[in-house]
Amino acid sequence: MEFVINDFAKSIDLQSINTRFQLFHIDYSKPIQVTFFTSRRLFTERLIDEGANPPPWLLAYQDQQGIYALDPDLWDPETSSGSLEEVIAHEAAHIVLQSMKTEIPLWIYEGFAMLVAGQIPLDDELGPLLTNPYSLDYESEDLYYTIAQAMVVLSAQINEFELVRRILEVDDYVNDSLFGFEAMREAVKR
Ligand SMILES: [Zn+2]
Repeated sequence: MEFVINDFAKSIDLQSINTRFQLFHIDYSKPIQVTFFTSRRLFTERLIDEGANPPPWLLAYQDQQGIYALDPDLWDPETSSGSLEEVIAHEAAHIVLQSMKTEIPLWIYEGFAMLVAGQIPLDDELGPLLTNPYSLDYESEDLYYTIAQAMVVLSAQINEFELVRRILEVDDYVNDSLFGFEAMREAVKR
């Protein structure tokens, strides 16, 4: 994993990000450009220019060209959980998965990034999965929490490394025996 970072970059522990990707045997050869924005206004404007409607808590996003992040000095400690490295690893994981797959359900797209970035407390009891993750969209309340719950359910069946490997291998998620709509419906019932 190679990152190209602009002038505003704070000291990022790139090694810790690379370690996450190595842990899952994920190799991505294209350099990833990381651009920091020195104001929330510039960050938001850039997103709106791209046709997005960014929520006020957003810290970073990506496209196939790279990662765009708000200067970490501007992050609100009240609403932003996680380190800069986690956020960059999360966005980089999106870039990797998108480079390999086309039809990715939202919960798998986000869950994969959260797993690779180490943002899911796999050892914790997150409570029973109450919602089929296929019903989630970006407006859903508890979106990331529900995805974390779904990933905990799956990682209890196989482990997190196998889980990440399967996400990279499977093409038809919706009909898959592990990730499929029916499988997740069963997981909710349990
Ligand atoms: Zn994400």
